[in-house]
Amino acid sequence: MRILIAACLLALVILPVVALGMARANYAPPAADAPAKLTTKQSTKQTTDTTAPAKETTAVPAKKYSRSGYDVTPLPRAKVEELAKKLDPEAYRVTQKAGTEAAFCGTLLDNHKDGAYCCVVCGLPLFSSANKFNSGTGWPSFFQPFDVAHVAGKQDNSHGMERVEINCARCDAHLGHVFDDGPKPTGLRFCLNGAALKFYEKSEQRPAESMPIKTETAYFAGGCFWGIEHYFQQAPGVISAESGYMQGSVDKPTYKEVCEQDDTAASKRPAGYKPHAETVKVTFDPTTISYKDLLRGFFEMHDPTQMNRQGPDYGTQYRSGLYTTDDAQAAEAKAFVAELLAKNLFSGRKIVTEIEPAKTFFPAEAYHQDYLEQHPERGCHIGKPWWLTKKAAAAAP
Ligand SMILES: [Zn+2]
Repeated sequence: MRILIAACLLALVILPVVALGMARANYAPPAADAPAKLTTKQSTKQTTDTTAPAKETTAVPAKKYSRSGYDVTPLPRAKVEELAKKLDPEAYRVTQKAGTEAAFCGTLLDNHKDGAYCCVVCGLPLFSSANKFNSGTGWPSFFQPFDVAHVAGKQDNSHGMERVEINCARCDAHLGHVFDDGPKPTGLRFCLNGAALKFYEKSEQRPAESMPIKTETAYFAGGCFWGIEHYFQQAPGVISAESGYMQGSVDKPTYKEVCEQDDTAASKRPAGYKPHAETVKVTFDPTTISYKDLLRGFFEMHDPTQMNRQGPDYGTQYRSGLYTTDDAQAAEAKAFVAELLAKNLFSGRKIVTEIEPAKTFFPAEAYHQDYLEQHPERGCHIGKPWWLTKKAAAAAP
């Protein structure tokens, strides 16, 4: 026992300096509305208007979500202090006082079970067993987080070293540091204090704070999916918006196939053939935004009176459609269209939006996802939805 303690003390003194003294990693703190990339800015959905004056945002902070469906809204300091009271002294020292545990002494170092490593303070899943590797440093090591929005990075110049400290994005618990000497595919090494983590095996029921929020799904086709996806991704309460193809009769279509789907003569098509529509799958928090509010934004961002077309884009892939996941959505979609017609907002023109039960959604190729975040000059829709015009109004002098 004495030898073990001595070894731990030696490791505590020497190894942090050796392991932590390496070049700082290219891991930046989370930024609102940034694409989900590990080596650049992290992705965190933020529902507040960040351009509004500070005095308007001092009330209850708006919710933030990660794309994997967790509530990552920063906890108030008082709540963190309350949670921290339940920690054992070592977990408290590490997470609240930026302590470092002794190398080779943590209980999770040699844990090879399948499961999730959650924040010992607030329960947010931070790392997965699928991304754990043996770094030889004596601390649990991972090459990527559970979700880039769950782990925040902070510049740390203490002890004469340039490092990037990593913290829980929800409760700000100190976790360890990240370095750029990790394995592929990220090249990063997230060096963790085991005391900052609570491990749950895959088969184990995790508590509510370690589970994703309950979400709903809705599907919208309104012409080119780049713009529709981009606008929905910015809506309050939207966790993710994904571009894809839907309602057609071909399984797993490619973009090329969808673009060429109108070229085949009708007589040569198999019976029952139906083309795909470029569709955006929206996953949302129904406690923050309703399906009706999403419908409102959808009809503001495209022209539902154009048949198989949006502006310069012609073809069945650009048709207007609502693909509903249950009877309640179908009823709401039909009622909303009836309401629009009653208000005669389209100068007597008919609304051609098709409303059908959702069939299988096929995600589009990777290069179509987050397209406008990477090519902002390619905006292609006629109107901004209410959540963006409201934002613009709030930012006005
Ligand atoms: Zn936490």
